[in-house]
Amino acid sequence: SDNAAASAFIAQQFLDNPPEPLPNERPLKSVPVDTWSPSSWRTKPIKQEVSYTDPSAVTSALSQLSHLPPIVTPTEIHKLKSSLRDVALGKAFLLQGGDCAELFSYCSDSPIDAKIKLLLQMSLVLIWGANKPVVRIARMAGQYAKPRSSPTETVNGATVLSFRGDILNGFEPAARDLDPGRLVQAYFHSAATLNYVRAQLASGIADLHNPLDWGLGHVRDPALQERYQRIVSSITDSLRFMRTVGVDTGAGLQTVELFTSHEGLVLEYEEALTRRLRRPAGYPASFATDDARVDSDENAIDGEAEGDAKAFYNTSAHFLWIGDRTRQLEGAHVEYFRGLENPIGIKVGPSMKALELVELLDIVNPQKEIGKVTLITRYGQDKVETMLPGHIEAVKASGHVVVWQCDPMHGNTRSTPTGIKTRHFSSIFSELSSALKIHKLHGSFLGGVHLELTGDAVTECIGGSEGLVEEDLSLNYTTFCDPRLNEKQALELAFLVAGHYRG
Ligand code: PEP
Ligand code: MN
Repeated sequence: SDNAAASAFIAQQFLDNPPEPLPNERPLKSVPVDTWSPSSWRTKPIKQEVSYTDPSAVTSALSQLSHLPPIVTPTEIHKLKSSLRDVALGKAFLLQGGDCAELFSYCSDSPIDAKIKLLLQMSLVLIWGANKPVVRIARMAGQYAKPRSSPTETVNGATVLSFRGDILNGFEPAARDLDPGRLVQAYFHSAATLNYVRAQLASGIADLHNPLDWGLGHVRDPALQERYQRIVSSITDSLRFMRTVGVDTGAGLQTVELFTSHEGLVLEYEEALTRRLRRPAGYPASFATDDARVDSDENAIDGEAEGDAKAFYNTSAHFLWIGDRTRQLEGAHVEYFRGLENPIGIKVGPSMKALELVELLDIVNPQKEIGKVTLITRYGQDKVETMLPGHIEAVKASGHVVVWQCDPMHGNTRSTPTGIKTRHFSSIFSELSSALKIHKLHGSFLGGVHLELTGDAVTECIGGSEGLVEEDLSLNYTTFCDPRLNEKQALELAFLVAGHYRG
C-alpha cells in the first residue's frame, strides 16, 4: 500500500542519512562572544516598523510589560522543542492552526472552545492517517499583530492607517491611530486566553471519553460521505477498543497538549517578554541525542555548565514565527529571533532564494539543532512545483534538519470580481498535495501543516464538500484579515491529508 511504501521510504532515508548522532548537533565547546541582546534588533533596519506618536506612553507600556510574569515557561518551551525534534525526524506530525488576525474580542469562552475542539478533532484524524503522534500548536493567545502590504488604506473616501492587528490599532476607522496601551492589553488578553485553554484542558474538554460531534451531514457527495464516515468509524472503534481493554487508565485519553504561537512582528512587545531564565533540568544547552549529552558531560569544563545554565526565552508564546515580509538576513526580526531558545518558524514564500534560505538557517540556528526551526512554505499552488524542490535540496546539503511545514493558505489568496478576499479550497488542497508529493520525491517528508481556520461556521473560503460558492461569501464573512477555513472545511482537509497516507 501507499502507507507501507511511505514508511519504507522514510526508513530508507534514515538508513542513507543516519540522523543521530550528528556531529554538528553536539554542544559547542565554547560559545562565541556575541553582541546579541533582547534589544540588539533596534540597531538593524526594520520592516513593518511601528512609529508611535507618544514615546513616553510606549516607555511606560513596555516597562509595565517587563514586570509582568511569563505567560509560558521554559519547561513548556523545551517540551515543544523536543516534540518538534520528533517531527523533524519523522516520528510525529505537526498541526498548527487558528485565526489570521486574532482579535481581543475572541477572548471569550465559545470561540476558544470551538478552536480547541476543532484542533483536537483534526489531530485525531491525522493521527489515524499518518499513524504518528500529532503535535498541536494554536495560532492563538497572542496572534494580534498583522504585517500589511500598505501602511494606509481608503475607507469611505478617507485615508486611514491600515488595520495592523489589535496589538497596535483598532479595526474601526476611528480607532486606526496606533495606541501603545494596546501592547499591555495584548498581554492580558493573551494570558486570559491561555488561562482558559489550560483550565478547559485540565477539566476534560479534550477527554476522549466524551463523544465527539463529527457532523458530516454537510458532505453532499455520497461517495465522499461514505469515505469520511469510514474514517470516523475507524477512529471511534479504536477509541472504544482502548477504553474496553483499559489502556485509557493513564492520562492519555483525558487530556492533550496544546501549545501557543503567533507571528513575532511587534518586537517592542516581544523584547519586553524576553527573559533570561534557568534551563529546566533535562534540557541541556543544544539538546541533542543521548550520545551527545554523555559526550558533553565527560568533556565539560569548569564554568561551562554554569554559563549554559540560563538562556533567553520569549515567554509570550511557546512558538513564534518570522513572517515572509520581515525575514531579511540583515533585518531586525532575524536579529531578534536568532537569540531565542524557543523553537521558531520562518515563512518561506516564492521570493526566497535557496542560498538565502541556508544563510538564514545558519544565522538563526548555528548549532544546527534538529527541529529548532520549522520552515513554513507558502508558495501558492502554481509555484510550489518550481520552488520547493530547490529549497529541499539546498537545506539537505546544508546539514540542517528542519521541520517542513506547508502553509497552503497564504500563496493562494485571491480577490473576487467584487473585491472580496477569498481562497479556493481546491487551491489549498492542491498546494498541500503537491508539497506531500514533492517531499517524497526528494527523499524528504512533509512534517506538518499550517492553517488559518476557525471553529465557527464562517463563509470565507470557497469550495469544500459543502459546496460554498462566491455568492455565499457574504453569508458569514467575519474575518478581519485573511479568509479562514470553517470547521467543516478544516476537518475535510484533515481527512484528505489522512487519505494521502492511508491511500
Ligand atoms: C500570516 O501567517 O498570517 C501571514 C501574514 O503570513 P505570511 O508572512 O506568510 O504572509
Ligand atoms: Mn494570514
